Parts: sequence; C-alpha cells; structure tokens
Amino acid sequence: MTTSCPGCAAGGAGRYAPSPSGELHLGNLRTALVAWAAARSSGRRFVLRVEDIDRVRPGAAEQQLADLARLGLDWDGPPLLQSTRESAHRAAVRRLTAAGRTYECYCTRREIQAAASAPHGAPGAYPGTCRDLTGTERARRRRERPPAVRLRADVRARTVVDRWAGAYTGLVDDFVLLRNDGRPAYNLAVVLDDAHQGVDQVVRGDDLLPSTPRQAYLAVVLGLPEPQWAHVPLVLNPEGRRLAKRDGAVTLSELAAAGHGVAEVLGRMAASLGLPGPVRTAQDVLAVFDEGVLPREPWVVDPAGWAAQPARRTP
Ligand code: GLU
Repeated sequence: MTTSCPGCAAGGAGRYAPSPSGELHLGNLRTALVAWAAARSSGRRFVLRVEDIDRVRPGAAEQQLADLARLGLDWDGPPLLQSTRESAHRAAVRRLTAAGRTYECYCTRREIQAAASAPHGAPGAYPGTCRDLTGTERARRRRERPPAVRLRADVRARTVVDRWAGAYTGLVDDFVLLRNDGRPAYNLAVVLDDAHQGVDQVVRGDDLLPSTPRQAYLAVVLGLPEPQWAHVPLVLNPEGRRLAKRDGAVTLSELAAAGHGVAEVLGRMAASLGLPGPVRTAQDVLAVFDEGVLPREPWVVDPAGWAAQPARRTP
C-alpha cells in the first residue's frame, strides 16, 4: 500500500486483532495472511492484538498465536492484550463526557428493537431514546438498571474509502462506548487501541465494513488519525454462508490431520488471492503479493471436497 500512503510506511503499522473465542479457521488465517503481507510489503511494522474484552475461551489466544506462527507470519513486539487497556478506554470516555459528547442510556435491547423498527427509524440505528432525558428522568431510570454510555454523534452517516471496497457510506448513530456492565465496547476499544499501537493500516474481514464509518467518526471525535481501511472478502462455504468450524476441516490442525500441510494451505490461499504460484511459504506470498489482484468476491471453500482430494506430498 505504499502508493496510497507513501508517508505512512516509515512509522506505521498493520495489524491482526483476533477475538480469542476459538481456533482460527481458513477465513481468519487468510485475512491474517493478507494483513501481514500488506503491512510487510509496504515497509510497515506488523502488530497483534488479542481482543479479549468479550468472548474468551481459555487457551484460544495461545492456540491462535501458535497457528499464525505455523503459517509463517511474524510480528513486532509482544501481542497487546486488549483487556490491559481498559483503564485507558475508560479515561477516553471520561474525556468525551467532560466535553459533552456522551450520555447514559438505560434502554433494554428489546426497547431499542421496538423503537428502531418504528416507521421513521433508520434500520439498525439507535433511535436516541435516552439522548435528551431530564435530570429527574435520568435519576429515576438509573435506579432501574445500570446505564450504558453512548456517544452523542452529530452526524448520521460517514463515508470511508476502502482500498478494496471503494467508497462506502454507512450509518453513524449514538453507538455504545461503555456497555452497561462497565466494559468498553468493541468500537471504542478498537479505535483507541489501533491508535495506541501506531496502526495506520487496518486490513480485516469485510464483515466489519459496516462498523467502519462509526469507527472513522469516533477517531475524528477523539482527535486520532484515521487509518487506511482495506476489507478482505470473506471465505464462504458452498451454501454461501460464512465458513465456520461446523463446515468440516477448516483449522490448520484439522487440515493437517486430513493430510493438507501448511505449504499446501498457503498455496491454496495464495491462488485464492489471485497470486501466481508456486507458493509454499508465507515468504513466497510476500514475494508475489499484489493488492491490485485481490479478488473482490468471497472465496468459496468446500472443506469436504478439499479434504477428499489426495494430499500433495511435501518433502
Ligand atoms: N476482534 C475482531 C474479530 O475477531 C476483529 C476486530 C478488527 O479487526 O477490527 O472479529
């Protein structure tokens, strides 16, 4: 990505930020490979972040890092554990609150759904129920349930320019910064932590594209630089659904057990990225990496079909 951001490369970084909720499957591994190759090919650092503020399965983070290393990816410095940043996340919300940019929200999920499906509500947008409550109403509602903290957004939408998806305009509503259990919400944590790690290039799965306008807007509100965005099309199963564990042999260990070693997996991933072969290692991927040829469509994988094919022998 040197061409689109010549000045960034000197101090910038790319990243991969998995949630440690389970083993990485082919889709996650392919996105990590692209993120790594995009960073390294543009002279950036590559950093990892374990997003452990939400769903954590014991041992999953270690397993994920081991699989990334098995794939041949390397990273700069120790992975950042997102949970160690919670006090910085909360401090940022205090600054926003002091600037009048937040409000407490007492709505239940059901209340939000009911209000958002009202005739004039934007689909998926928080309807602003708690935005302008009086002090008395707030005191009463606070006694009923602990509040979440929302951003007071002053726009309804924002356009981001994505390296692969192009200009993408999406919703910006008064989204949650702190959940009602006091934990930082994903959109807040990701923006603060990317800036903290010096990330100026965000490569990730395109399921996160709809969240990107909110994150870009929050970066501006927080006075942080907006990174460049590059969302990788997902890996789908033959039914067109996002590849998942239940689809068969989809993790590195499962593929290895079915006779498909890392070299073969990398070769297949490289082919799915439009890169010329032969590719057997992550370094081979880096040598031929060309973001210009990356397909804009999802990669459809049939793990059953793949596993049924004879394994290619790797000396
Ligand atoms: N932790 C998120 C996930 O595993 C990714 C967050 C991001 O890349 O911004 O889906």
